[in-house]
Amino acid sequence: MLSLSGRVGLIFGVANQRSIAWAAAEKTAEYGASVAVTYQGDRLARTVDALAKESNLPLALPCDVTRDEDIDGVFESVSERFGRIDFIVHSVAFAPKEALTGRFTETSRTQFQETMDISAYSLVKIAQRGAPLMSSGGAIVAMSYIGAERVIPNYNVMGPAKAALEANIRYLAHELGPAKIRVNAVSAGPVRTLAAAGIPGFRTMLSKTAEVTPLRRNITTDEVAQSIAFLVSDMSSGITGEIIHVDAGFHIQGASLSS
Ligand code: NAD
Repeated sequence: MLSLSGRVGLIFGVANQRSIAWAAAEKTAEYGASVAVTYQGDRLARTVDALAKESNLPLALPCDVTRDEDIDGVFESVSERFGRIDFIVHSVAFAPKEALTGRFTETSRTQFQETMDISAYSLVKIAQRGAPLMSSGGAIVAMSYIGAERVIPNYNVMGPAKAALEANIRYLAHELGPAKIRVNAVSAGPVRTLAAAGIPGFRTMLSKTAEVTPLRRNITTDEVAQSIAFLVSDMSSGITGEIIHVDAGFHIQGASLSS
């Protein structure tokens, strides 16, 4: 049976109750883990503090992943409280709104750099600071999307950022494996969240995706959270460097001509 009893987890990227990070926090806590969560900044403090209190999570900490001092502060707080970390979930992404409309060809250098920094590089920094606290091994999971592998209209600069994130998974898995730290990603199908709402045409994407997936439906946030819990648990002890698609099978489809 899947159990995270006695484990300590740190989950980055809660904005609200709909966040994948929040679903992962609730799910891993349900399986017995002590879970600390992070949120981007003051704007989200009240919402996330209230959620954490309601669910008896021990820590909710501010962290803007573009600031090394914030990342350091989070690891210091978790280390002071628990002395170690068993798993980390990275559920953070951002692209400027203007970069998610119009032509990918028009992406500016600053838009590209900001998107890469927040959505891809931050995983490296977090692993760099987190690995020393995983002294008896551990698991790191990040969130990706099929836009890393294929062209999805309007996903634009997030596509290359997710491709970089997925490459990070493999390089980190290679280097951290000898320390018994596994590194994987969940490539999720579309789910309604704040970040998703920023992608023009997201509603249409949701309904069209549901029509063509082998399971003929969209996935739920709970299904993503279950898979994250699996990847941070001993049930997945032989899996590292993997990108697991939790997308109702969408990624296997070529042309979808059938009714
Ligand atoms: P969300 O908006 O709830 O979460 C995104 C989080 O990123 C927010 O908490 C936001 O505050 C945080 N963030 C943005 N910039 C940040 C910064 N500078 N520092 C710290 N945090 C920052 O949306 P979500 O859908 O739960 O997204 C979580 C992850 O899942 C993202 O990596 C996203 O790309 C991925 N994902 C989402 C979907 C989907 O359809 N919703 C599908 C596949 C993958």
